[in-house]
Amino acid sequence: MRYYSTNKQENGVSLEDAVVKGLASDKGLYMPDRIPALPADFYQEIDRFSFQEIAYRVADAFFGEDIPADTLKDIVYDTLQFDTPLIPVSEHIWSLELFHGPTLAFKDVGARFMARLLGYFIRKKGKSQVNVLVATSGDTGSAVANGFLGVEGIHVYVLYPKGKVSEIQEKQFTTLGQNITAIEVDGTFDDCQALVKSAFMDSELNAHMQLTSANSINVARFLPQAFYYFYAYAQLKQAGKADNVVICVPSGNFGNITAGLFGKRMGLPVRRFIAANNRNDVFYQYLQTGIYTPRPSIATIANAMDVGAPSNFARVLDLYKESHKAICADISGTTYTDEQIAETMRQTWQQHDYLLDPHGACGYRALAEGLQPGEEGIFLETAHPAKFKDTVERIIGEPVYIPAKLQAFMQGEKQSVPLSRNFADFKSYLLNR
Ligand SMILES: *Cc1c(COP(=O)(O)O)cnc(C)c1O
Repeated sequence: MRYYSTNKQENGVSLEDAVVKGLASDKGLYMPDRIPALPADFYQEIDRFSFQEIAYRVADAFFGEDIPADTLKDIVYDTLQFDTPLIPVSEHIWSLELFHGPTLAFKDVGARFMARLLGYFIRKKGKSQVNVLVATSGDTGSAVANGFLGVEGIHVYVLYPKGKVSEIQEKQFTTLGQNITAIEVDGTFDDCQALVKSAFMDSELNAHMQLTSANSINVARFLPQAFYYFYAYAQLKQAGKADNVVICVPSGNFGNITAGLFGKRMGLPVRRFIAANNRNDVFYQYLQTGIYTPRPSIATIANAMDVGAPSNFARVLDLYKESHKAICADISGTTYTDEQIAETMRQTWQQHDYLLDPHGACGYRALAEGLQPGEEGIFLETAHPAKFKDTVERIIGEPVYIPAKLQAFMQGEKQSVPLSRNFADFKSYLLNR
């Protein structure tokens, strides 16, 4: 399969080039040439397959031409070493719990898949070491660091703003050792991102070492997220309730929901999607007006969705050939304030005994307000509430249970390299590695 750039200024590239380069040279995002439909009998029998079997069928449709079957199967099965169960929360509303992976957020799926695929390409070529640079405000750094941990031929540098990530999040990428280095930047998240960008543009540095990025624009990170949409449908079918499925996705950069839209294009019988936003609602505004106006992000309690210029918007536009009408036929939107998010968390906890995290709360609320008669709604619970312990405890007024996996991170010893926010320091650090 070939991959083209959404900006159409670059010729198509192979899967390997798309994964290693991340972003196209014309700054567009890579899209697969075709979106293969899966046969009707697959959807009829889907409730009899395991998560891994379903995921392999989906992976094979995209990557089967480019990766030997047994290798691809190993990558898929090894990526999905945890379940994504569908849990009933209230009448007609189900939570797809995507927080059972190593860092308790949905990003584990894409990060683990990408690490294994990149590892395969490096082994195949006998390439020297590849260095992944990733700037993080929290969740991305932990998912990428844990996904790439121990993968041979890859070294990961996580850049994070000193004093601006929670202790739980910090521990998830500073205690790992091995091929993971945490760099504590005396600056903001934007400074970290600027350092990474400057590094990619610096010719001396790129001649010295092979650099790549592992953020959500990478096809190997966003496409595998389609797996759990199919599995969610399979679980609802098992319950005999899969006739009119609506899926609601708490969205920031829109990588997650785009993977779901790809699933629909492959024939997955989902009636419609809802993109739930916090107050960073440029996509919601686009749906209402047809005009897309990116703007600086604002801080909310659902901070992984604090995105003012969603990078995967380019993919959504491309998928629907820029038709606002076609986009509105498949996707509607919602936007919630911090007060509404907190209210939803309190109510769902009190009335349904289900503890939402602030991101999932946007998803739940959109379904509670917007489901039509006869519809069955699934929202993606994108992270475990304990990842936002302080916020959640303040809202519900009770201590939050911390899963053992998260506690284990807390026991590790923090190791990080302190650096200033000056590119010259970062560059000389990398050159001397
Ligand atoms: C990253 C993240 C999101 C947003 O996902 P996108 O793919 O960027 O839309 C939502 N919730 C949580 C917990 C996240 O970590």
